[in-house]
Amino acid sequence: MIVRLSGCYMIGRYSNIMVYRDIFRSSDFARIIAGGLFIPLGFMMYFLNFNFFIGSIMDGHGKEYILNGFLAISVFINGFPIIKEALKGVLKRRVNVDELVSIAIAACLANGSFFEAAIISFIMVLGSFVEEGVSSRARGAIESLMEMNPDSAAVLEENGAEKIKGIDEIKIGEIVIIRAGDIIPVDGVITDGACAVDEALLTGESMPQYKGPGDPVSAGTVNLDGYLRVMVGQRGADSTIGKIKSLIESAENSRVRGTRIVDRYAGYFTPLIVTVAAVTWMVSGDADRAIAVLVVGCPCSFLLSGPVPAVAAIGRAAKSGIIVKGGEYLEKLAAVKTAAFDKTGTITSGKPRILKIEPENGYSSDFIIRIASSVETGSTHPIAGAVLSMARGMDVAVEEASDVAVLPGKGVRGSLNGNVVEVVAGRNILYPGMTCVDVIFNGGHAGYIFLEDEVRESARKMVESMKSLGIRHMSLLSGDNEGAVQKAAEKSGIGEYSGGLLPHEKMEAVEKMSGILYVGDGINDAPSLRAADIGIAMGAAGAQVALETADVVLMNNNLMLIPFLVRLSRKMVSVIRINLVLSLVINIIAVVLSTMGLLSPVAGALVHNMGSVLVVAISASVALSLKIEEDA
Ligand code: ADP
Ligand code: MG
Repeated sequence: MIVRLSGCYMIGRYSNIMVYRDIFRSSDFARIIAGGLFIPLGFMMYFLNFNFFIGSIMDGHGKEYILNGFLAISVFINGFPIIKEALKGVLKRRVNVDELVSIAIAACLANGSFFEAAIISFIMVLGSFVEEGVSSRARGAIESLMEMNPDSAAVLEENGAEKIKGIDEIKIGEIVIIRAGDIIPVDGVITDGACAVDEALLTGESMPQYKGPGDPVSAGTVNLDGYLRVMVGQRGADSTIGKIKSLIESAENSRVRGTRIVDRYAGYFTPLIVTVAAVTWMVSGDADRAIAVLVVGCPCSFLLSGPVPAVAAIGRAAKSGIIVKGGEYLEKLAAVKTAAFDKTGTITSGKPRILKIEPENGYSSDFIIRIASSVETGSTHPIAGAVLSMARGMDVAVEEASDVAVLPGKGVRGSLNGNVVEVVAGRNILYPGMTCVDVIFNGGHAGYIFLEDEVRESARKMVESMKSLGIRHMSLLSGDNEGAVQKAAEKSGIGEYSGGLLPHEKMEAVEKMSGILYVGDGINDAPSLRAADIGIAMGAAGAQVALETADVVLMNNNLMLIPFLVRLSRKMVSVIRINLVLSLVINIIAVVLSTMGLLSPVAGALVHNMGSVLVVAISASVALSLKIEEDA
């Protein structure tokens, strides 16, 4: 139960044990070992002299034939996957590493070295298997994210009975029942009940969040202690966690630039190694040397150098509630020199409070709130939320305006009983430092609403941390008035600021800078998120927009995740560099030793795989060693 209750346990030690157990249980593993066992089995037959029945038929060579037969079976079992991949490569006219190993195995067989052929196949497949295991350990966080979500839920029928349905059969608008300790299976809104929710898996936030009727809940989070009825919003692949899963899956398949370089080189690698092997053979007349060259010449560890650290880093980020859409974004992030931030909802909490209402021209505060709230019903902007909750507090009946038009970065306009109402950004000359909106009724000024939005607690620390990472050039870009932006810039320590920007003006400001990281909340700043070299969205507010437009999405509002991610990306890049150098050095030394006859084919196979496993193990360290500064 504990395992299910807390995402942390699941992601921590347990997932690794699960991964290993799965590895040793897998049928691939059984096949490799079975194939390998034919080698000692063959020798047993050889030494036990089981040749009494065929031996005489075959001029006393029976026991050699039996030994080679067993070895051939071993080659067949373990060499088959390698040769299959090699043939695939040949058919696609693409050079791949299995081709080298296949040539080596074929050369061994042609040379009559059945034992070498069997051992090399065995070590090669076992090696890739271990690599796979270690890298899936690095992926642990991702994997447990995939597995956590239940595939069925209890749906409340009209007659009050419960029925278990598969996630995909559940319809939007149905009510599901979630008991204490259960993982919430769908995105939706609580209609009944209250509880503490553990959102660690989705947001990385370890503190439980308290939720009651009307609050949204997300699939993949855990109902710790209450009985809930939830109206289904999205489920399965459409839920937030479903979308995150598919994003991470595609991120794993995307490659970092480092590997694209590697791919280019792989085209030269194989012919080069084949040539070296051929020359070695001709010069030395020793087929074993040539075979050893082919075996150690595979650039396997080179090929793993980029993708494995990238996957480890993406997994580590996911564990803290950061969704990175691909390794290449981390690579870009590592090189970032400047950063720009959106104000509302990013540097500030995005929960503005109304501090003052100043009616003009004979209108009343009630009237202002009444008409303003009627058009704000059509907006998702944080200011709309503040106006609507004010209206609720003042017991103003909110009439929904018609023909509501959202003016991005400016405000809203709509019509209320034939009157045109506008709520738009104001210039604010009365209370410097506050956000100000003008309320306009049929073209005439009806009054001002003044609001304040607190700067997030983590903002100042984040700015300091970014400076210490060498990102000194930071600016605050906002559609809000200059005074309010200045105040937020001072409070957070961001050096430069610019206010009164419309979404496209923000984007232009971002485009002007190179190597720029832009952090926004997805509301009125999607163009900037896209224009920046790397766009990071604070997902909690506009999760859906953000998931689509940003390169990176923070599932919780802790700004310290940004410097953490910069450090993670730099770590990833340095590990990739170490890997590339290390694997190149190992390969070159091993090839040279092989040409000199100092490395046998079997020893070559061992060295080769140790190189790959080393690369993978170093890469896994990306995931293990970094902490968010606040936790440290
Ligand atoms: P930021 O760039 O700081 O995130 P926005 O671009 O979201 O700010 O908004 C800029 C300004 O436009 C706000 O400060 C506000 O004055 C005005 N505004 C935007 N949307 C609304 C709205 N729905 N109601 C009232 N004013 C709005
Ligand atoms: Mg914003």
